[in-house]
Amino acid sequence: MAGLHAPHMAMINSNFLKLKAGYLFPEIARRVNAFTTENPDHAGEIIRCGIGDVTEPLPPSIVAAFHEGVDEQADRATFRGYGPEQGYAFLREAIVENQFAGMGIGADEVFVSDGSKCDTGNILDIFGPGNTIAITDPVYPVYVDTNVMAGNTGDADENGAYKGLLYLPCTAENQFVAEVPDARADLIYLCFPNNPTGAVATRGMLEAWVRYARENDAIILFDAAYEAFIRDPEIPHSIYEIDGARECAIEFRSFSKNGGFTGVRCAFTVVPKTVTGKAADGTRVPLHQLWNRRQSTKFNGASYPVQKAAAAVFSPQGKTEVKALIDHYMGNAALLREACLALGLKVFGGENAPYVWVGCPEGLTSWDMFDKMLNEARIVITPGSGFGSAGEGYFRISAFNSRENVEEVCRRLTALVS
Ligand SMILES: *Cc1c(COP(=O)(O)O)cnc(C)c1O
Repeated sequence: MAGLHAPHMAMINSNFLKLKAGYLFPEIARRVNAFTTENPDHAGEIIRCGIGDVTEPLPPSIVAAFHEGVDEQADRATFRGYGPEQGYAFLREAIVENQFAGMGIGADEVFVSDGSKCDTGNILDIFGPGNTIAITDPVYPVYVDTNVMAGNTGDADENGAYKGLLYLPCTAENQFVAEVPDARADLIYLCFPNNPTGAVATRGMLEAWVRYARENDAIILFDAAYEAFIRDPEIPHSIYEIDGARECAIEFRSFSKNGGFTGVRCAFTVVPKTVTGKAADGTRVPLHQLWNRRQSTKFNGASYPVQKAAAAVFSPQGKTEVKALIDHYMGNAALLREACLALGLKVFGGENAPYVWVGCPEGLTSWDMFDKMLNEARIVITPGSGFGSAGEGYFRISAFNSRENVEEVCRRLTALVS
């Protein structure tokens, strides 16, 4: 009888047990809760500059388009059921026209989704086991954890580094831009402008990465969620501005940080038909075909009103409003940078990204600085070490806030450190 010897039991994906129990943000929440419990009179004074979430409401023309989409759903004549899994043509075309003009990207190479976080994780569905995965340190934790879940790593060591991943250290010496390694990798995660460091890659640096990818038959997974914050006209917004990238790169974009869609949910992934991977028998297979199949099978499209709202980001009025939104956050970033520089701290980022990456005052670790900021200034920042061991000695301040809060953060920070 079956089951006599083998116990009937649902087996779990044991890779999940290798995960470092979502250490960073739960630990921040734990320390903030402890503070508010012990200091109830000061709980209301806390200013959160920790999590990278937008604070300002959706721009009016985007809200109007969103409403219009809902109204269409309320009328039999304009009602829409399931849409294309890849996104509506009106949005895919608007994306290409407005963000990839002249880069050789077709609307059918754009896959609309409900978020970049899920896309950067889901993309692993189309890659097999045994790839060497390169990840920067510090890093957006999603890239690491999704590879752990997929079984692409061994266990973590005492520093939280997983066996089997190729870590690319980002430090003050390389301006927090990962250099091309001597070792070979099959998949490389790059994020520019960077979360958490706010670093951007010059055209030359991206050219070096594309060259490396082509020489090594590797794929670059390029996360450009923050491209709208680029101010320097010399800095590329897309990896496809680099010759040859259409043969080796997938790009992830999101409406979360430009349009303020973190709670609305819309993003897209560009998979050029010219990017290929290898099958077990050595034949080359276009990744576009695999991603299309993956999305058609496991995803049923982003909601119609949401895609209408996303398309409004590219209307003339939408562009003006989104620019004002970005200007607001970048104004915050400039104030935070100035305050930190005036205190003699080492300051990175904040010029083409909504994150300011700051060296802790002499002798303090990332978590020491976190505790000091929380207990003495009632400001929540993110400890750099939470993004990887190379982030030790730094902290991240998010510019996503009201101007009033940022001005208060600058005052308190100045009083605390000077
Ligand atoms: C915010 C962010 C995204 C966007 O994620 P969504 O799921 O689209 O909200 C993607 N990548 C990075 C690095 C981010 O910080």
